[in-house]
Amino acid sequence: RAKEHGGRQVRFFTEAMGRELLERHRLEVDLKQALERGELELYYQPIVDLGSGQPQGVECLLRWQHPEFGAISPDTFIPIAESSGLIQAIGTWVIETACRQLGDWQRRGWVLYASVNVSTRQIPDGVHPDWLSQLVSRLGLEPESLVLEITESLFASEIESVAAWLKAVRALGFKVYLDDFGTGYSSLSYLKNFPVDTVKIDRAFVRDMVEQERDRTLIRAIMAMCHELSLQVVAEGIENAVQRQLLSDLDCAYGQGYLFSRPLPATELEAFLSRHET
Ligand code: C2E
Ligand code: MG
Ligand code: MG
Ligand code: MG
Repeated sequence: RAKEHGGRQVRFFTEAMGRELLERHRLEVDLKQALERGELELYYQPIVDLGSGQPQGVECLLRWQHPEFGAISPDTFIPIAESSGLIQAIGTWVIETACRQLGDWQRRGWVLYASVNVSTRQIPDGVHPDWLSQLVSRLGLEPESLVLEITESLFASEIESVAAWLKAVRALGFKVYLDDFGTGYSSLSYLKNFPVDTVKIDRAFVRDMVEQERDRTLIRAIMAMCHELSLQVVAEGIENAVQRQLLSDLDCAYGQGYLFSRPLPATELEAFLSRHET
């Protein structure tokens, strides 16, 4: 009986795997056309000053509205974009769209900077320093107002090229944030190898910080380390006022999360920004 059961399990497993492969292939084929069909859209989440609640900038987050499957999470399709190489074209579109939107909002006196997520697969060719420079100057933006958020763990072979890219973009005035800090296995080695301007504390720490003394201690330690290294800190995933207060008490100056706003389409974010006009 056990054998029979085991046999079924194996069959089920391979079927599921086969389905997953098919699904992945289907998504890859569809993603190729998503750009030209206008199925991709940028959503914007405010990054606020935790003291005043005033929005300082926006993080640009990609959304894919699939004609058949509906909304697909970036956690699903970004890895497909990365492995298929589509991330280059998509990343270019994200940065151009973000910069044009930022120019518009800056002219209306609203938002000071935009941050875009950059996969290390895009570095260096998909986000060439000269291209970034030409783009912002063509749009009349200061390079300081474009933030590049990097996350992904790197292969040792990539460290040198990413470090060289980082140096080049920062020399041109662009800002670089280290995203999801505290997760993965290489956060501290990132700081050793890569000069960045700001660290974003992963929302896993913020999520449990009210109940868990341990998570507060970890955040306190991250704050102290960032202070010593003269790094700014942004806390991710702030969902309630207690978290906001605790983070403020720990001298964390900036944050984002559902407490302030979910990521929103451009027109809806404009309503948020106009409510917060000073
Ligand atoms: P991320 O860069 O760490 O973005 C933050 C994620 O946390 C977003 O998920 C956002 O919607 C979510 N979030 C924000 N506030 C809260 C909160 O208070 N509570 C909770 N539970 N979640 C919150 P999203 O939009 O699904 O994006 C997931 C990830 O996909 C991003 O993580 C980023 O790594 C990647 N991604 C998104 N857009 C792009 C893109 O244009 N290019 C690349 N390369 N990656 C992207
Ligand atoms: Mg990010
Ligand atoms: Mg993050
Ligand atoms: Mg992330």
